[in-house]
Amino acid sequence: MRHPVVMGNWKLNGSKEMVSNLLKGLDAALKGVEGVDVAVAPPVMYLDLAEQLIGKAENKIILGAQNVDVNAKGAFTGDISPEMLKDFGASHIIIGHSERRDYHSESDEFVAKKFAFLKEQGLTPVLCIGESEAQNEAGETVAVCARQIDAVIKTQGVEALNGAIIAYEPIWAIGTGKAATAEDAQRIHAAIRAHIAEQSEEVAKNVVIQYGGSVKPENAAAYFAQPDIDGALVGGAALDAESFAAIAKAAAEAKK
Ligand code: PEP
Repeated sequence: MRHPVVMGNWKLNGSKEMVSNLLKGLDAALKGVEGVDVAVAPPVMYLDLAEQLIGKAENKIILGAQNVDVNAKGAFTGDISPEMLKDFGASHIIIGHSERRDYHSESDEFVAKKFAFLKEQGLTPVLCIGESEAQNEAGETVAVCARQIDAVIKTQGVEALNGAIIAYEPIWAIGTGKAATAEDAQRIHAAIRAHIAEQSEEVAKNVVIQYGGSVKPENAAAYFAQPDIDGALVGGAALDAESFAAIAKAAAEAKK
């Protein structure tokens, strides 16, 4: 039985005041919400503050991060290692987000390296995959997602996906308000699961696959009603405590 995971990706947004208000508001809004793992990924700058606030929260909030680098220590200016993330209590680490693939030219192979490094350190990779609008229109969605997952499977074996999270995020739906329909998202999620099942039915059955792309309180329940959608990776709506908690609540209720 897969456990739903709803994760907020705060991207390049935050200040001490905002982090404090958002986490306190989220803690209050999550009262009584059970049966879903709720995670947040603030900018690394605010992990320390977030760890302290989460430590005082009444409801469980998992701390995550938006990226990791591929070196452990030494002369790598500006890099952040898995050990550093662990030091601040971050466990769920987003990798391969389309914004990093696009703006920082991160390849499938580079993302797979990050995946391996996180696993090695006992952290949970949240592997983002998804197609561009042009690829979608060309009918290449499943092939693109399969290629992105295969970069991990080919280097680390399908078992590496055990305990990891996959976030299917059609790029054209991220931050655009143009969300995929729940039925289309389900079709792609089922295809992703079937692709993994070609290597291992057991791994495919257990891996959490989130949907991401303009998820809001208004459309969340429709996604979570789908059998292969196990939660959401949320950008914009995660910056509002009430909206994000409402999405988490929708996941908890749908997956009871
Ligand atoms: C994201 O950045 O991962 C995302 C899904 O953003 P949004 O919810 O704003 O579309």
